[in-house]
Amino acid sequence: MKPLLRILLIPIFIFAILNQYQSATPATSPTDYSHYLDQFVDHSVKPGDDFFHFAVGKWIKDNPIPSNESSWGIYNIVQEETYQRLLAISKESSSENAAKGTNTQKIGDFWHSAMDTATIEKSGITPLRPEFDRINAIHDKQSLTDTIAHLQYIGVGAMFSPIIFQDQLDSSKYVLYLYQGGLGLPDRDYYFDSDQRTSNIRQEYVKHVAKMFVLLGDDEATAGRNSKTVMGLETDLAKASRKLEALRDPRANYHPMKVDELSKLTPSVQWKRFLDEGNIHNLKSVVVGQPEFFQQVERSLTKESIENWKTYLRWQLINTFADDVNANFDKENFHFYGTVLNGTPEQRPRWKRMLDSEETYLGYALGQLYVKKYFSPQTKQRYEKLTADIFNAFQDRIKKLDWMSEPTKQEALKKLSSVMKKVGYPEKWRDYSNYEVDKSAFVNNCIRGNKWKSDFYIQRLYKPVDRTEWGMTPQTYNAYYNPGNNEIVLPAAAFILPGIPDQYVDDALVYSYAGGATIGHEITHGFDDQGRQYDEKGNLKEWWTKQDEEEFKKRAKEIIQQFNGYAVLENLHVNGDATQGENIADLGGMLLGWDAFTKTEEYKSGKEIGGFTPAQRYFIGWALDWMENIRPESLAVRVKSDVHSPSFLRVNGPISNLPQFYQAFDVKPGDKMYRSPETRVEIW
Ligand SMILES: [Zn+2]
Repeated sequence: MKPLLRILLIPIFIFAILNQYQSATPATSPTDYSHYLDQFVDHSVKPGDDFFHFAVGKWIKDNPIPSNESSWGIYNIVQEETYQRLLAISKESSSENAAKGTNTQKIGDFWHSAMDTATIEKSGITPLRPEFDRINAIHDKQSLTDTIAHLQYIGVGAMFSPIIFQDQLDSSKYVLYLYQGGLGLPDRDYYFDSDQRTSNIRQEYVKHVAKMFVLLGDDEATAGRNSKTVMGLETDLAKASRKLEALRDPRANYHPMKVDELSKLTPSVQWKRFLDEGNIHNLKSVVVGQPEFFQQVERSLTKESIENWKTYLRWQLINTFADDVNANFDKENFHFYGTVLNGTPEQRPRWKRMLDSEETYLGYALGQLYVKKYFSPQTKQRYEKLTADIFNAFQDRIKKLDWMSEPTKQEALKKLSSVMKKVGYPEKWRDYSNYEVDKSAFVNNCIRGNKWKSDFYIQRLYKPVDRTEWGMTPQTYNAYYNPGNNEIVLPAAAFILPGIPDQYVDDALVYSYAGGATIGHEITHGFDDQGRQYDEKGNLKEWWTKQDEEEFKKRAKEIIQQFNGYAVLENLHVNGDATQGENIADLGGMLLGWDAFTKTEEYKSGKEIGGFTPAQRYFIGWALDWMENIRPESLAVRVKSDVHSPSFLRVNGPISNLPQFYQAFDVKPGDKMYRSPETRVEIW
């Protein structure tokens, strides 16, 4: 798998990196934590000039990126601890000789096969041989599209992306979306942007694809030609692919169609048969995301020879499993996706990468053991209380908005009160009984794992939506809002703050870094440029008056312009359109956390801790959430393919709009971050 590739799917709004919650009143501690923030703050930077580097600049200077990481920050500190926990679980499971079919056996054998490099080396790509044979046997369009369907079923991202998710017009059922896809670079723009950085990546990509063909046994000349074929075919698909920001509009990416009608877009594909080959039977209708992409698929099916398609599929197959087979493929794969694309000199240790794989294939089995050991009912309760505080804060803000009319407010409050709150871990665990895991070559477990996942999603098509499902494992340091369920989901590991036991963290950090602002961020996603288009049941439905919609868009436009103005690297600006939802959520989340914080005794007392006022600690806490060093190459990938702004701008961007920040740090005209009051954006 390639963790670097991200497809923007049906809108699930992921916070990306978030944190923890602790008790409202810090207990008296045997250790003095009052100077906890000293390890982060750089007093040589003026807060009003560059708050991010003031708040966490010392840590940034003291903690350079290890040579085997593309970035290094708060996420990694927390993740290091999670890795240790998961490593212990995996090793224990491996030594237990548990009964066949139990989760413990699966985790244990998965871990064994992942670390058994002798077997991996010995078997090379032999386990993939049946798949390559199948590709080699393609002789006409029928066998070509049959094979593509099969490859998609085993997890290969060939030609386009089939995704099973809630129907956006009727969230009570699942539907199959056919989305643009089939590319080897992180975003369609990589195929066209003419700046030096991107042109270089394109050239290196062609070299990389050629090297992979050599490793598959092609001679140099053939490999070179094959690589150009892949690039040409992918470039055509990319040309017809929508830009990141164009994928944000849920209605524009929703085109319901009977399966019989699909042949109008792509006459070369017999769709009923295609779905059957992918193990999807008796389906009457689908939703096409981007019809013009499927018209391009038809053009490519007609234009490209069968041989060219076979070449493309061989590439897609090896690209999918490159890091699951022997070292030659793994190293070359890392060379391109790690070093060239993200600037990382060395590969991370195998055990960490294999824990990431285990997370992909058995994440909920691990999670079940994880929460038993590391997540207490008390923490869950405290977190639920904090969530309630933030909801109340948002309710108050909506009631007071001067730009929203009464009818829209009533609907907004109705939607807010129906948001489902999932905290910690799922009530029901995923059942892996049909996933066979053994100690044979590792890639076998990966292929079977992908099949299991495909079947897991396919069976949803025949049942009503189970709203208790989770889309993130409890050990994930992250959170999300899903408009289809109108829910926020806050995994157990999202509550970890490094270096202080829960009960000693003061409220300023609890309401910013450790949960408050994060919960606020997620809740406001239900009302941002995408989320506001869904009603309280999770269906796409207009519930705003025209006037209110215009008022919202006017404010969103201000945020877009503000972030378009941020230069990140040479020739690279933030994409204000693509990141607007996240920026609106950061701005709103900070305010909701703030509102709830101002009700606490700590805030009211105004008493300094470690030399900072409560308000100052609140803002430093927010910066801590985004503390990271990142390589410029990796930063460029994020700007081009991620809907979140770069970390330092998730701090400096939103707070430059907040009068509370100006007051807390006495920010004045002339300071670099200063914005005059009339240019500050206010939404919630
Ligand atoms: Zn978000």
